[in-house]
Amino acid sequence: MRIDIISAVPDLLISPLSHSILKRAQKKNLLKVVVHNLRDYGLGKHQQIDDYQFGGGSGMVMMIEPIATLINKLKGDRHYDEIIYMTPDGHQLSQGECNYLSLKKNLIILCGHYKGIDERIRDIFVTKEISIGDYVLSGGELPAAILVDTLGRLIPGVLNDESSALFDSFQDNLLSAPIYTRPADYKGHKIPDILLSGHKKKIEDWRDEQAYLRTKERRPDLLDDNR
Ligand code: SAH
Repeated sequence: MRIDIISAVPDLLISPLSHSILKRAQKKNLLKVVVHNLRDYGLGKHQQIDDYQFGGGSGMVMMIEPIATLINKLKGDRHYDEIIYMTPDGHQLSQGECNYLSLKKNLIILCGHYKGIDERIRDIFVTKEISIGDYVLSGGELPAAILVDTLGRLIPGVLNDESSALFDSFQDNLLSAPIYTRPADYKGHKIPDILLSGHKKKIEDWRDEQAYLRTKERRPDLLDDNR
C-alpha cells in the first residue's frame, strides 16, 4: 500500500511514522508513506498556501492552487483509490472503515490547517472525508497519523502474529477481553484460574464471554446490528 500525505507542517508527521509498527511496515516494503510539503507548491516568492476568507471572518483558508497542483501531479503518476480529507465534519472513523481502506493500493491523505481548506478542493478532488472524533485539532497531521497507524497494522505481514489484529476491540463489533501477564499473583490480585488451566477451548470460550460482557456493559451500542 502507498499513502501520500499532503501537509503544511510535515515535521509533525515524522515521529509517528518512523517508529514501532509503522517503521516495520515500511522496512518490510509492505507500506510506503510519502509526505509532501505543501509549501513546495506555494504561490509566489513567499510560497503562499493560505489567504483571507471571502466574506470576512477570522482565520486563514488554504488555497486551491498549491493543493490542486500537487494532487494533479500525483494523479498523473498513478491511480488513487481514494483522496481523503481529514476534517471534523467528515464521517467518523471506525474499524470497519479502516478494514475497508486497508485493502486499497494507493491513497492520498490531505491535512488541513488554519481555518481549513477552500471548499472547492473538496468538491473537485476529495472522495472521502474522515473525522477522528467530535473535537477540533489545529491540523490534520495527527488525525492522518492515526489513520495511517490503524491501516498499517491491518496490512497482512505487518504484525508478527498476523491473527492478532483480528482479535482487537471493534473487530466483530466486540471490545477485547481482559488480558494478563506475569506474575499470576500480584500482591493477592490473582488472574482468573481458567487462564492457567491449559484448556484451550475453555479459555477461548471464556474470552468470548468476557468480550461480550464487557461490550454489553461499556458499549451496548456496538451490539446493535448493522453498525
Ligand atoms: N474550521 C474547521 C476546523 C479547522 S481545524 C471547522 O470548524 O470544522 C484545522 C484542520 O485540522 C482541519 O482542516 C482538519 O484537517 C484538521 N482537523 C481538526 N479536527 C479534526 C478532526 N476531529 N478530525 C479530522 N481532522 C481534523
